[in-house]
Amino acid sequence: MRKFKTESKKLLDLMINSIYTNKEIFLRELISNASDAEDKLYLKSLTDSSIKLEEDSLSIRVTPDKDARTLTISDNGTGMTADELEANLGTIAHSGSEEFKAANAEHQGDDVDIIGQFGVGFYSAFMVASKVRVVTRAAGEDVAHVWESDGLEGYTIEDGERDHCGTDVILTLKEDVEGTDGAEGERYSRYLEEWELKNLIKQYSNYVRHPIQMMVTKSRQKPKPEDAPEDYKPEYEDYTELETINSMTPIWKKRGDVEQKDYDEFYKSAFHDWEDPARTITFHAEGALEYDALLFIPGKAPFDLYRKDY
Ligand code: ADP
Ligand code: MG
Repeated sequence: MRKFKTESKKLLDLMINSIYTNKEIFLRELISNASDAEDKLYLKSLTDSSIKLEEDSLSIRVTPDKDARTLTISDNGTGMTADELEANLGTIAHSGSEEFKAANAEHQGDDVDIIGQFGVGFYSAFMVASKVRVVTRAAGEDVAHVWESDGLEGYTIEDGERDHCGTDVILTLKEDVEGTDGAEGERYSRYLEEWELKNLIKQYSNYVRHPIQMMVTKSRQKPKPEDAPEDYKPEYEDYTELETINSMTPIWKKRGDVEQKDYDEFYKSAFHDWEDPARTITFHAEGALEYDALLFIPGKAPFDLYRKDY
């Protein structure tokens, strides 16, 4: 077993023992890593002709397995060599993690929910997982490597197998904790539920530019039999289908082919309003800087609009 570096161990302690309510951001972090890895492979493919990328082949897959109590986040990005595994997952790689550690030290004891403000990175997986297994194969390599850890003292790296380059991050979720009088419980098994995962992806990763896909269960009407009796009632059956959960392109960039109802939906979910906006203004500026903006005038004036402070 290899030991975590001291700084990493401190961060891991924070992650594992944190009582933050938004542990759910671990998914955002792992998806963002998967997306980065796909960007890196794409960039490499532009200069390295040995890397052949099918157009649109880059995607992220989220797979819950209730029987095994695992949640897997897979990508077909650049992957990691054994040395990269050691360097990237054995130490804090990201300055955001350092910032988080510093801010956490400052706010120790306060009831502030600061974790969501930082890119806390890979280790956030240990907020919800008792074991993390990373199976990865670097682009251009034939062998795969497996990194595994319970997030406490250290980790192991062994040889493994994977069909293509890319990475699977396999989380074994912690056992659910019953709520007691003083303390709230924690149902980690909710991260195995389809609708919960869908919601989290939409909430935190909607504009990730690669498709985030998941097998989802749907219902459909069975075909009516030839000899159906007159009082035949339609029957339904469940089936599963791979679905892209995120919308990818931000709505403010999709100028032209957006309908008003899409703007209305976006406005209502982003700004927690029940009513459609009175007016939507799209804005595109080009110059030394280029940017898109979307302005909404709410349907109803806020109640304190005419107060001096407002
Ligand atoms: P950050 O993403 O901000 O660099 P993280 O803690 O999230 O910090 O990840 C640490 C590093 O581990 C990344 O910079 C990257 O090099 C590597 N890594 C993590 N996940 C993946 C992945 N799915 N594929 C390839 N590399 C990864
Ligand atoms: Mg990251």
